[in-house]
Amino acid sequence: MPFAKLGLSRPVLEGVRAAGYTEPTPIQVRAIPLILAGRDVIGSAQTGTGKTAAFALPILTRLEAPAPGPRALVLEPTRELAAQVETAFRDYARFTKLRVAVVYGGVGYGAQTAALREGVDVLVATPGRLLDHLQRGQVRLDRVQFLVLDEADRMLDMGFLPDVKRIIQKCPRQRQTALFSATIPPEIETLIQWALRDPETVEIGARRMPAETIRHALYPVNSSQKTDLLLELLRRLDYDSVIVFCRTKQGADHVAALLKRHNHPVAVLHSNRTQQEREHALRGFREGRFEVLVATDIASRGLDIADVSHVINYDVPQHPEDYVHRIGRTGRALATGDALTIMTAEDAQHVAAIERFIGQKIERTKLEGFPYLYTALFEELKPGGKPLHLRRSRGARVGRGYYYGPARR
Ligand code: AMP
Repeated sequence: MPFAKLGLSRPVLEGVRAAGYTEPTPIQVRAIPLILAGRDVIGSAQTGTGKTAAFALPILTRLEAPAPGPRALVLEPTRELAAQVETAFRDYARFTKLRVAVVYGGVGYGAQTAALREGVDVLVATPGRLLDHLQRGQVRLDRVQFLVLDEADRMLDMGFLPDVKRIIQKCPRQRQTALFSATIPPEIETLIQWALRDPETVEIGARRMPAETIRHALYPVNSSQKTDLLLELLRRLDYDSVIVFCRTKQGADHVAALLKRHNHPVAVLHSNRTQQEREHALRGFREGRFEVLVATDIASRGLDIADVSHVINYDVPQHPEDYVHRIGRTGRALATGDALTIMTAEDAQHVAAIERFIGQKIERTKLEGFPYLYTALFEELKPGGKPLHLRRSRGARVGRGYYYGPARR
């Protein structure tokens, strides 16, 4: 199915071509015609599936030309996501005359207020800052025709649901609404009942499965050797860019300091950093100045960082969904990537929960030649099993160990 057959307008199709997309992803094939037809949509798709374009392209098509607005409102849980989605909208809209703006917290009001005053067709926003602008009378939502609630489960996790509801109440009842969420907990179900009208659900793949282009491996280790193993993995990995996930901000700072001492060009991303520091980290990582990004889960959802070759979970995520979101940073769209998870005996339960959640057993791997101290986890490894080669883009090989679990692909 080519893009040209989906019913998108000519300038939007030109934008798609300029973005370098040759064919629509499955969620785009399903969602674009529905949104063009005026339907409310619930999208549950894996990260990196192209969901931004799935809602942005039909909305831009329907908006056609500039008019008093905003007529499309997109709510995002974090400023990074808001900035990223705004950039995507601008890219796709470059051959239209439609105006796109973004508002989020952590920065001054001046530029945002000026943009709102000039008039916008598409407004991308985080809930808190949008409410501030509403209270200051700098924007009204009574012309909104298209409302997108993106990463709804994340907004719930971050406590934004009351804000989101207040915002929805300021939008006209007569509108079209799309909600995207990796998971649909009961609170989101209630929100759907309240805010959407006869929605059509678009679900791509099993909701819980991580992208199939990702290769997973667990690296069991005694907890006293976690940092040594991380350093050794980075030494042996032939990575282009890697995100190292930590559970806490302090942990992330600690790991970043350690990597810096070992001469890795590293940036840190977590919520205690100022907006300026976060932007500096992201930009540097995107541009390749930092090869390693150490991050907490705030960076794990939806952030579009192209070409991450590896994700290393320095800490096993405590929520199984976060595992899927974290490793969603690699293997985006149709590329492949590797996800390595360092595991200690204390993590066994969380790992079991992750394996149940994703419906597959993850390979256990040992690094050959690493001076391992004993951990009971090794009892699970089967000597004589197949050695695991971590395939890399440049053909290098990393892990050579033994794996335990079902037959590998
Ligand atoms: P998203 O799931 O919206 O965060 O998109 C993930 C990545 O896929 C982004 O880098 C998009 O630019 C890219 N992408 C979206 N749609 C397509 C497509 N049809 N073909 C190739 N890449 C795409």
